[in-house]
Amino acid sequence: MEVGPNDCLVSRFPDADLLDARDLLIVPGFVDAHIHTYGVLAHGMPVSGVPDSFEGFLKRFWWPQVEDRLDREMIRAAFRLTCANLIRSGVTSLCDVLEAPLIPDGTLDILAEELEAAGLRAVLSVEASERHGVESGARALAENVRFVRACRGEDRLRGMISLHTSFTCSAPFVESAKDCATALGCDLHLHLSESEYEPRECAIRYGTRPVFWYDRIGVWDPTVLASQVVAVEDDEIRLLAERGVRVAHMPLSNCEVGGGIAPVPRMLECGLRPGLGSDGYITDMFQIMRGAFLLHKGAGRDPRVLPAPTVLAMAGVWGAAAIGFAGLGELKPGHPADLIGVSMEFATPLTQANVADQIVVHGDAVGVDLVVADGRVLLSGGELIREDIDRLRHCVREQAARLWRVVEHG
Ligand SMILES: [Zn+2]
Repeated sequence: MEVGPNDCLVSRFPDADLLDARDLLIVPGFVDAHIHTYGVLAHGMPVSGVPDSFEGFLKRFWWPQVEDRLDREMIRAAFRLTCANLIRSGVTSLCDVLEAPLIPDGTLDILAEELEAAGLRAVLSVEASERHGVESGARALAENVRFVRACRGEDRLRGMISLHTSFTCSAPFVESAKDCATALGCDLHLHLSESEYEPRECAIRYGTRPVFWYDRIGVWDPTVLASQVVAVEDDEIRLLAERGVRVAHMPLSNCEVGGGIAPVPRMLECGLRPGLGSDGYITDMFQIMRGAFLLHKGAGRDPRVLPAPTVLAMAGVWGAAAIGFAGLGELKPGHPADLIGVSMEFATPLTQANVADQIVVHGDAVGVDLVVADGRVLLSGGELIREDIDRLRHCVREQAARLWRVVEHG
């Protein structure tokens, strides 16, 4: 409703509840622009042999041993713990994509229930692909359509149409997903060129690169969110920027799967404004920001790229725009009260000029003392208000043990 000095606010709103945030730096809540909350179940999971490539990672590990074995109990427990961990690192909004093609319809309703209990803001979807056949793909699309409609009128919750990739979705399938999104007036999400595998496959199947293939089908416009965007060439980046496509960047998970390093400095030069995501891998937003801040300097041998204010924008206002929650990420009257209070106990003085550096380079999730989402306090004094983290961890350990056992025996 208002932003201003303490005294003015207290005299204008004498009856309002007062939150003591003295000695805290007030920052807009972070946005995880691309996450798979179920991913926590695979943290430390035993794998027989390290996959030799990105496609090996998917085909021999992630698809058969994780995605295709998930059940509702696992998904629910993982979602709730991940939400709690996100809150602890200052995240107030997330864009979660459930990749579980064999799960029954209606699972998004369970996540919506848990989201409401956690108090966060989210875009939720199930990933649609034809990996398990045409029917399974159509079912996932229909589930997204149902959920988008069910979320109408909600402030903190939205659905979207979510696709996997050009190597798991045919042109007619992508076209039907685009038609659904257009008819509903909702966003369309897809994973784009997470490694060289997708451009290589696309060249074999269609004789072109993925960005041009999607362009041929008429997919690109400002309602589309492309996540990953690692193995893209210069003319592809320029086309994405020209079409106003939104992008999400996952610096740490791109490394995990050996996908490469996304050309983010070039995206910025072309006018793209990427959000920052965890991909469900390392979900601490401070570590992700630090990854983005350092990785591109090292890769490009240029200390000038991705300065701290840019990285902070990626974790906040740009991420919010990327997931379609415009208005978040800025502390202004009329904007939602999604904010965090970060301890100002830095080793050196905090100044107007170095505030982004102090947060991005020297900040830490341990310093997050206060989290408010939509005006509701979720963390205070560094403690979660609504969650018992030990209980949530216990639940996930049980569910992870079930998943791992299935794998070991299956
Ligand atoms: Zn992903």
